[in-house]
Amino acid sequence: MPKKNIRKKSKVAKKKAVKKKILKKKAAPKVYKIDRLNADKKEGESTIQSAKAIGKKLADDPYTIEDGVSQSMLSGFFNCRLSCRYGLDGWRSPRLKDSLNYGSLYHDLLENFFRGVMLEGYTLEDAKPFMNLFLETWLEHERSKDITNPRALQSSEVCAAQASATFLGYCEMWPDDFEPGRWIELEGVFEADFHGYLLRGRMDGLQRAGKKRKYYRLMEHKTKARIEEEALDRRLAFDFQNLFYLTALNCQLKTKGIDELARVVYYDIIRRPGQKFNPDKESLSDYSVRVKEDVAKRPDHYFKRSEIFYTAKDLERFQEELLIKLQIFERWLKDEEPTFKNEQACVAKWNCTFLDACASAGNMSNYVQTGELFVELKD
Ligand code: SF4
Repeated sequence: MPKKNIRKKSKVAKKKAVKKKILKKKAAPKVYKIDRLNADKKEGESTIQSAKAIGKKLADDPYTIEDGVSQSMLSGFFNCRLSCRYGLDGWRSPRLKDSLNYGSLYHDLLENFFRGVMLEGYTLEDAKPFMNLFLETWLEHERSKDITNPRALQSSEVCAAQASATFLGYCEMWPDDFEPGRWIELEGVFEADFHGYLLRGRMDGLQRAGKKRKYYRLMEHKTKARIEEEALDRRLAFDFQNLFYLTALNCQLKTKGIDELARVVYYDIIRRPGQKFNPDKESLSDYSVRVKEDVAKRPDHYFKRSEIFYTAKDLERFQEELLIKLQIFERWLKDEEPTFKNEQACVAKWNCTFLDACASAGNMSNYVQTGELFVELKD
């Protein structure tokens, strides 16, 4: 037999072996992991060892600035000092907004799935089975919570139907998110020293982006019912949260001796479907199909991303103002600044949680004082 043919035969045999291996691999059922559900966070269960103060009960152990400052805390203070005071004293409303529930569900779904992409090599093909398993787990959890409240339960089921209708469209819209080596971190908790103030928070995602993965890019996911496109780009040019997170990341890079300025944010918007569910006329699965058809027709309406490149000057200007804001906040905590209402902030995009309290001269009977510090940073 000529040598050439022998080689050919061995190549064919090799190919067959590889194919057999692939088929064997495909046949094995994939085990998907769901590590974290925000809804599962319970008071006093922080697993972050280094993060002091996370989970501390505010009614028993008052907040001090040494516990750290998050962007939501600081922007809340500048929005309304009284609302910030109530929050830092541990007051919470027992009612959870439906929009918060939807946002929290979507964040958990994205985090868990893209962690699988980052660590386990999930592909687009995994999106559907993963999503089904995730939503089933999430709904099971919601059902156990809301067993006596059929309205809350239906609202959770609608949230899950909407997520199921949009998630695959989202994954198809952004294929770059599946590139190997794209993700560095998901829902990473950070602590950073900024002029002696401890900045804290949780970033939705961190990527390497650009040609040859040249730069850091923060990912921020937002679920929104309405998108004010006209003003959005201008507002993002000086967005407090984006610049706060970039500042914290740059402080961390500096501490680690990494000479690189992180200055890019990917602002990722997922529109919440506006179609109403009509339980008298359709089932939840019919509703989900109806929404999914609309998503397929106009994905651009549902999914939008802006990549924002901040300049070194933008960051510098922001940091000068951030330092001033932190100093005012610190003086207020020491009672060197007064507390007052901001009546302009009571009814905005969402009604302030403390409307009932302010409307009844500070009567807190509709509230519980069970608040903990930095619940959003718990794992
Ligand atoms: S209701 Fe208005 S004044 Fe009262 S805490 Fe809320 S935002 Fe402030």
